[in-house]
Amino acid sequence: MAPTEQKIWIVNENPTHEVQPDTFRLETRPIPELKDGEVLVQVEFISNDPAQRGWIQKGSDPDRAYVKPVRAGEPMRASGIGKILASKSSKWKEGQRVYGYFGWADYVVVPEAGVVMEAIDLPGVTAASLSILGMVAVTAYQGIFEVLDCKPEHTVLVSGAAGAVGSAAIQYAKHIVGAKRVVGIAGGAEKCKWVESLGADACVDYKDPNFAANLKEALQGYADRYFENVGGDVLNAAFRLIKRYGKIGICGMISGYNGKVIPLPNFFEVISNRITIEGFLVLDVVDRYGDIVKKIAGWAKEGKIKLDDAETVVPTKIDDIPKTWQRLFRGENRGKLVTQLVA
Ligand code: NDP
Repeated sequence: MAPTEQKIWIVNENPTHEVQPDTFRLETRPIPELKDGEVLVQVEFISNDPAQRGWIQKGSDPDRAYVKPVRAGEPMRASGIGKILASKSSKWKEGQRVYGYFGWADYVVVPEAGVVMEAIDLPGVTAASLSILGMVAVTAYQGIFEVLDCKPEHTVLVSGAAGAVGSAAIQYAKHIVGAKRVVGIAGGAEKCKWVESLGADACVDYKDPNFAANLKEALQGYADRYFENVGGDVLNAAFRLIKRYGKIGICGMISGYNGKVIPLPNFFEVISNRITIEGFLVLDVVDRYGDIVKKIAGWAKEGKIKLDDAETVVPTKIDDIPKTWQRLFRGENRGKLVTQLVA
């Protein structure tokens, strides 16, 4: 029977620091009647992205933000995979499984522009359109090949190496570029072991009290290229280990997303060692998104990058969506954190 109601998470109060129990609220609403150009989607999988924390930050300046902030009273924004239950669009048909922006909801009516593409199915992968062939993989591609222009003679350092973007970046640097030395940074010995199993020559635990010394030893010299995902103390330590005229690609800064301000006393290294820093956004390659995904899928088919074990899939009831998302900020994922909606 066609659903008549949707459950949807709304931003209740924009946070400044840690997310609070009243940051979001769950509403039950009647499903609106489909208008021309709209589709009704049953959401199956939801992408968990650190960036979502930034989208809901209180007082963020819309003129400086890269996407429209999500304000109190608006549905929480998220990408996901779902099945089209009904369609009044000429582009998308009933029964198609699609990837798009469906938010934190069980059922949702979206305009056809909210659907990005048909979902990609790969054997052994639960939600390929969100993980190894998703936005995070395209981001890793952009960072390694375009922003950092990694070469075989480079030593490449990647932080957040056990996460969705980082684990892809490690694999591209080692197995596609063939970089001389690839070193990861991740939280904990177990995660580091996993990063090494992906091909890193070494992985260093940033939670270890000897982190800076261990990183120096693992690099066996200096890093030519640094793919930065976390910022804060990790970035501060890394500044001292980037080669003169080396480059840092700033992809993310998760350590500061919950409002924590961490000073960077080693920033002067940028001057003394003439380090280039470039921030980048996957948004800038959207016109080539499909081509990049095809290229990565080709590497996966050739066995150059690992397909399995690239996701942490968490079966989640609609009431618990915010809880699963918050695992990102506690490091409770390996590879892509995917919410699988269950009854
Ligand atoms: P991840 O899968 O990497 O998940 C987040 C991970 O970050 C956690 O598992 C945890 O791993 C680590 N982490 C959490 N808190 C801290 C902290 N305080 N200090 C250090 N590490 C922490 O997420 P994604 O791969 O999706 O994203 C990685 C980064 O890339 C984020 O900063 C994100 O914003 C950014 N990003 C940027 C894009 C762009 O276009 N520029 C696009 C997509 C993502 P651990 O256990 O190792 O601590």
